[in-house]
Amino acid sequence: MQSPEVPKTKRIVLIAHDNKKEDLVEWVQLHKEILSKHHLYATGTTGKIVHERTDLPVHRFLSGPLGGDQQIGAKIVDGEIDVVIFFWDPLTAQPHDPDVKALLRIAVLYNIPIANNRRSADYLISSDLLASSYKKTTIDYSTGLPIY
Ligand code: PGA
Repeated sequence: MQSPEVPKTKRIVLIAHDNKKEDLVEWVQLHKEILSKHHLYATGTTGKIVHERTDLPVHRFLSGPLGGDQQIGAKIVDGEIDVVIFFWDPLTAQPHDPDVKALLRIAVLYNIPIANNRRSADYLISSDLLASSYKKTTIDYSTGLPIY
């Protein structure tokens, strides 16, 4: 049974495609103090780099191209992820593009706050709601509509 509330301590996923990893690491360094109060998750390579460069604890899934995006999608479906920071690369084709699309779709379906670039991530990290509990969205499976 899932909790009806999003917890105060958020479970935050970090993912960056290769050309965006520097961008993400720099963003995490800038917001390290806030992020250290939450639980961090990441795809394999992103998590490794973020941990090495910030010393923050990061739970790592498989690398994105090896199924990490799908593992994270499954966690969202199970109600175990609260926020996604995903710097995907709009200029480079990815071998696992179907997995990327699937993750973006599941995040939207489950009403997960998701930032796909630096400015959105800045807005999200500075929201008062990040450190508050929040009523979880459920989905009415008979209509497919969210219940807020
Ligand atoms: P990576 O995966 O962190 O293992 O590089 C990210 C991705 O490409 O989805």
